[in-house]
Amino acid sequence: MNNPEKRNISIISVMLIFIGMCLIGTSCARQKTLPLDPAKIDHSFTIGFTPERTQLLKDYAEAHYGDYYKKSTGSSEWPGLEMKPKVIVLHFTAIPTLEGTFKVFTPDTLTNRPNLSTSGKANVGVQFIVDQDGTVYQTMPDNYFARHCIGLNHCAIGFENVGMKDITGSGLRGKPQKNGELTLAQVKSNVALIRYLKNKYPDIEILIGHQEYRQLEEPSHPGYKYFYETDPGYRTEKSDPGDRFLKAIRNELDDILKPGTHGQVFD
Ligand SMILES: [Zn+2]
Repeated sequence: MNNPEKRNISIISVMLIFIGMCLIGTSCARQKTLPLDPAKIDHSFTIGFTPERTQLLKDYAEAHYGDYYKKSTGSSEWPGLEMKPKVIVLHFTAIPTLEGTFKVFTPDTLTNRPNLSTSGKANVGVQFIVDQDGTVYQTMPDNYFARHCIGLNHCAIGFENVGMKDITGSGLRGKPQKNGELTLAQVKSNVALIRYLKNKYPDIEILIGHQEYRQLEEPSHPGYKYFYETDPGYRTEKSDPGDRFLKAIRNELDDILKPGTHGQVFD
């Protein structure tokens, strides 16, 4: 290949192929995660709604949401355990394993949570758990009342992500994590599950991380109408699931989240 013109054409061809591959790679990387296929949801762990648990949750709902709960479900009667989902709240477990997480949710009553038990004995719970490998476990019907976020349980679906810390930069690139950080597989599964639930319940309006729940107490917040708690002293400080994890999820959902709402409001 001594002809300089041929060599230039050849270099240009190689560059074009390279650029083409980069573009294909970029478009693949930006391909949207699809809604979760409900057939892929694992139902091997479910929270047992014993008569005691059911009564404790009703007591909690009545004590903390009172008539507001009836209003938010559109019923003048106590609707039992069902609610109308309007909000999705993302969490991490602060427990390193799936099995450990199941153990916390199994009892009917709270254990070792003195700061919460003064506000009701009903155990904490959540509708979905996402393991580190991205497997989604459903623990109860997705429109059942669960105790996972003060002020919003009457209308919020919660996801607990097994993990202790926010996702890292290497985690975002899909590298295995060693110290309980959240994973890229969990980002993808949260996105897929949110899309599935938003399709199922189009009235879901707000997406927050647990660390953001107190923002809904501000009258200017679009989710203010959903925040209700009878006890003004019953509040917690939360840091789960972390800014990077939320940002990664919101980036993937930018087609269904309203611009200018910090990724907290659906279009
Ligand atoms: Zn939480």
